[in-house]
Amino acid sequence: MATRLVDPLQQPVQYVRGVGPRLAQAFGRLGIRTVEDLLYHVPRRYEDRSRFATLYGAAHDGFATFRVKVVRLREPQLRSAKKLTEVYVTDGTALAVAKFWGRRHLDKVLSPGTEIVLWGRVRRERGQIEVESPEFERASEEDGTLHTGRVVPVHPATEQLSPRLVRRAVHAALEAFAQRVPEPLPEAVRARYGLLPVREALWRVHFPDSVEEGERARRTLAFAEFLELELALLLRRRAVTTATKPHRYREDGSLLEAFLKSLPFQLTGAQRRVIEQVRRELYSPHPMNRLLQGDVGSGKTVVAAAAVVVCAGGGHQAAVMAPTEILAEQHYLTFRRFLEPVGVRVVLLTGGMRRSEREAVLAEVARGEADLVVGTHALLQEDVVFDRLALVVVDEQHKFGVAQRAALRAKGHEPDVLVMTATPIPRTLALTLYGDLDVSVLDELPPGRQPVRTYHRFPDRRDRVYQFVRQQVQAGRQAYVVCPLVEESERVEASAAVELYERMRTQVFPDLRVGLLHGRMPVADKDAVMEAFRRGDIQVLVATPVIEVGVDVPNATLMVVEDADRFGLAQLHQLRGRVGRSSHPSYCILISALPTEEARRRIEALVETHDGFRIAQVDLELRGPGEFFGTRQHGLPEFRVADPIADVALLERAREAAEGILEEDPQLERPEHRVLRERLLRRYAESGAYLAVG
Ligand code: ADP
Ligand code: MG
Repeated sequence: MATRLVDPLQQPVQYVRGVGPRLAQAFGRLGIRTVEDLLYHVPRRYEDRSRFATLYGAAHDGFATFRVKVVRLREPQLRSAKKLTEVYVTDGTALAVAKFWGRRHLDKVLSPGTEIVLWGRVRRERGQIEVESPEFERASEEDGTLHTGRVVPVHPATEQLSPRLVRRAVHAALEAFAQRVPEPLPEAVRARYGLLPVREALWRVHFPDSVEEGERARRTLAFAEFLELELALLLRRRAVTTATKPHRYREDGSLLEAFLKSLPFQLTGAQRRVIEQVRRELYSPHPMNRLLQGDVGSGKTVVAAAAVVVCAGGGHQAAVMAPTEILAEQHYLTFRRFLEPVGVRVVLLTGGMRRSEREAVLAEVARGEADLVVGTHALLQEDVVFDRLALVVVDEQHKFGVAQRAALRAKGHEPDVLVMTATPIPRTLALTLYGDLDVSVLDELPPGRQPVRTYHRFPDRRDRVYQFVRQQVQAGRQAYVVCPLVEESERVEASAAVELYERMRTQVFPDLRVGLLHGRMPVADKDAVMEAFRRGDIQVLVATPVIEVGVDVPNATLMVVEDADRFGLAQLHQLRGRVGRSSHPSYCILISALPTEEARRRIEALVETHDGFRIAQVDLELRGPGEFFGTRQHGLPEFRVADPIADVALLERAREAAEGILEEDPQLERPEHRVLRERLLRRYAESGAYLAVG
C-alpha cells in the first residue's frame, strides 16, 4: 500500500515561520490558506528602492531610499491620543526627522547609532526635512534587506496585513519551501519559450533584481498556469471528439432543405456557413461540441432550428434550454412556427406549469413522442427523462453555470451539443479559453439593420422621453419601458413594475394600450401579454429585465430603460438588442442621474458604440477579468498569476505548447510530464467539468 505523504506545499500557511494562527487568519481573508497559496501571492507592483538618495538633495516631494544612521529618538506629547515617535537620522549630508505614528517599541530597534535603510516620502517642512511613516530596515540584518535598498515587491495586502508583513512571510515561505516546489515545466518547453524553472521564477517574482526581471518571472508563472488549463481543455476535447456517438441521424437532406426554403427571409452568409458546419458535424460519427457566438440580433435561433430539424427529422429528440420562462415560451412559439410545418412535434416545459400539464409533457418526452422540448432550468429536474435525446442546445449559455450545462447533457448519451451566446469575447481568447469547444461566429447581421440610436437622458427630462414614446406609437411602432432592477428579488422587482405600469396606464398614456410583463406573472398571463405585444395590440410594454434576453418583436423600435445605471453593460447591450430588429429606425433611451463615475462611463460606452465586442472590452476593463469571466459562469479555474486579457499572447503560446506535449505524449506518461499530470489530476479532476487524465 502506498504511504500517503503530506505535500508540504499544501500545509496551512500558519506553518510558515513568523505566521502564527492570528496572521494565518488574516491571510485567509486574502484567500491564502496553504503554503502554496502564499508562494503564488505575487506582487501587485514593484518599487525600485535600490538607488540611495541623499537627504540634502531630496528637496522636493517624492519617494526615495536613504541609507542613514539614527541620531536620537523623541516622543513629543500630543493632545490627541495618538502616539508619535520622531526619529532623527542623518546620512552625513543633512539631518532629517522620520515620523512614526502609533508604533511601539521603536526605541528597541532604532537605538542611536543604528544604521538603517529608510524608504518613504520626503518633504521640507519649515526648513526641516521630514519623512512621514517610512518603511525601514536595519542595514545589517542578516537576511539581506527585504524592504528597502532594492527593488521591493508590493503585494496585495489588507488592514491587518501590511505589505511589510506579507513581504516577510513570503520571504520566509520561499526560504523554507521553494526548493520543494516540483518543476511542472519540461525543460524543452522552458528552452523553447524562454522560461525560468518555476522554483526560480517564484524567487524572482517576489524579489527581483530589477522590475523587468520580476515581470519576466511573472510570465513564467502565468505560462505554467495557462499550460495546465490548455492541457486540461485539450484532453477534454480529445475525449469528446474521439468518442463515437451511439446515435446516427437518418440522412434526409430534403427536410432541412424544406425548412430553409420555408423561412421568410434569406439567410446571411454567416448563417449559411455555420448551418453547414453544424450539419456536417451532426452527420459525423463523433459528437458535436460547438459554441456559437453572435451579437444580439445576428440570428442564432435559425441555426439552432436547423440543427433541430436534422436531429428530429433523423428520428431523435432534441432539447433547447433558455434562461428565462419568457424566452423559453418565445422559443417554443418560434420553433413551432418553424418546425411544425415540417412535421416536428414541439413541447414546452417550464417551472411555472401546472402539475397536470407538466406530467402530460413529461410522459410525451419519455415516450419519445415529443421531438423537441423547449424549456428552462426545469429541464434539468430528475423526473425529466428522454427516450432518445441526441441534441442539446443551450441558448444564452453565459446565463448558466457549467454544472447546469453538464446536467442537461447528461440526460442523453454523448449527445451533440450546441451552446449559443451573445456575450462576445475576442475570438482568439474564445478559441483558447473554450479550448474544448469548436467556435463559430455569426459576424454578420441580417441586411437592412440600422444601428440603434442611443441617448442618455437625466430623469428630469422624462416627460420629453414620454412624448417620444407617443410619437413612435403614433407612427405605428411599439415601445418597451424597462423598470429598474430593484434587487435580486423578482418579487420586489415585480411590484416596482406594477407601480410603473399603473402610472403609465392611468396618467402618462391613458389613451394608449399599455401592457405589463414581469417574472412573477402566471405563465398563461405572460403568454397572453407577449402574444398581444407581438400582434401589436399592446403598444407600450412595461417590463422588468426578464425581457433582457432573446425577446424578438421586430415592430418594437424604442427601448426606454429607467435608472439605467442599475444595469451592467452587457445587460444594457442585451436590452438594447430587443429593438433594431427590422429596417425601421430604432432608439434606445437610457434614463439615469449618473450617480457615479463608473455609471457615467458605462452609459457613455453604450451611447458611443453598438459593437458588442467593443462593449465587452469596456466591460472587461471596468470590471476586471475576474468578475467578467465569473468562474462559476465560465467554468474556468481562477488564475493566481495569469491575466487572460493582458496575457493573451502568452495564452496562445501555452496552447501551442500543450498541443506539442500531447502530440508526443498523449497520456502524459513520460517522467518529464509527471508533475503536470499530477497537477492536472488534482486541479481539474475535482471540478468535474474536466477530464481526468488517462
Ligand atoms: P439572436 O442571435 O439575438 O438570438 P434571433 O435569432 O432572435 O437573434 O434573430 C433576430 C431576428 O432576426 C429575428 O426576428 C429573426 O427572425 C430575424 N432574422 C434572423 N435571420 C435573419 C435573416 N437572415 N434575415 C432577416 N431576418 C433574420
Ligand atoms: Mg437569441
